[in-house]
Amino acid sequence: MIQKEIFASLPKIAELAKAMVLDELEKEKVSEEEKKPNIETPIIPLSAEVKATHPNIICDGCEASPIVGSRFKCAICPDFDLCESCEEKGIHSHHSFLKIRRPEAAPPIIVCVDADQEAQEYINNLPAASRH
Ligand SMILES: [Zn+2]
Ligand SMILES: [Zn+2]
Repeated sequence: MIQKEIFASLPKIAELAKAMVLDELEKEKVSEEEKKPNIETPIIPLSAEVKATHPNIICDGCEASPIVGSRFKCAICPDFDLCESCEEKGIHSHHSFLKIRRPEAAPPIIVCVDADQEAQEYINNLPAASRH
């Protein structure tokens, strides 16, 4: 008798569970939409900024210190920086530069692999016999 009642109420329980799941899914949808703005990369309008100053950085082109505006850091040389105008002149243009608009955006360390240099080292390290 009791079992019969349980069986009779099963569809109701199923209906209730379904409603709960749907409700939960709906909530998740909303929270995901709320999360969206946080995932996006923040855009800092440059026009709203005062020209950035990069303390303790000397331009290797014109010796200006500190560098004001954008700082250009050579991605290959361990310590080579340029100011905006020197970079525009094409100084040291045989290397790629990292453009740092704000000092707080500067990476603490830059690791750059010069593929050509690595290949050259590999060739130099080959046993003499295999070079022929
Ligand atoms: Zn300069
Ligand atoms: Zn360089």
